[in-house]
Amino acid sequence: MKNEMTLAFDSISENEAFARVAVAAFVTQLNPTLEEVADIKTAVSEAVTNAIIHGYGKEGGEIFLDMTADPAEKTLTVCVTDTGAGIQDVKKAMEPLYTTDTTGERSGMGFSFMEAFMDEVHVESTPGHGTT
Ligand code: ATP
Ligand code: MG
Repeated sequence: MKNEMTLAFDSISENEAFARVAVAAFVTQLNPTLEEVADIKTAVSEAVTNAIIHGYGKEGGEIFLDMTADPAEKTLTVCVTDTGAGIQDVKKAMEPLYTTDTTGERSGMGFSFMEAFMDEVHVESTPGHGTT
């Protein structure tokens, strides 16, 4: 039987670590390898960081983490949602090295890491309304 769970937390950087641990704890029921857990934590961390930095920025807001484990299919689905700025051009945003950051702190590799570490990555976004 599928197992679903939802968390909601503030967009502060401390909660990136919380999200990593939460998803690692949740996926344990599927008996993943240590490498799989590490990959999932990295992907979720990139998505949560994007929500914090690009989705909400200084204003802050609420981030939703929806996770579904399906033991029959041996799959984990994770949705990271913000109701922040949204993305104008998702295809472009997902290109390696593409970033709208101007501080020089970001490398534009977050989506590429998500795609490298997960089997599938889907991005839905509406400018002004948010991103999943
Ligand atoms: P890095 O992840 O390497 O630190 P980055 O965050 O800029 O840099 P990506 O994670 O690949 O790189 O994201 C690419 C771009 O997509 C971002 O620069 C930003 O413009 C946009 N973006 C990503 N996630 C969101 C989001 N949740 N809300 C609004 N814009 C986003
Ligand atoms: Mg990023």
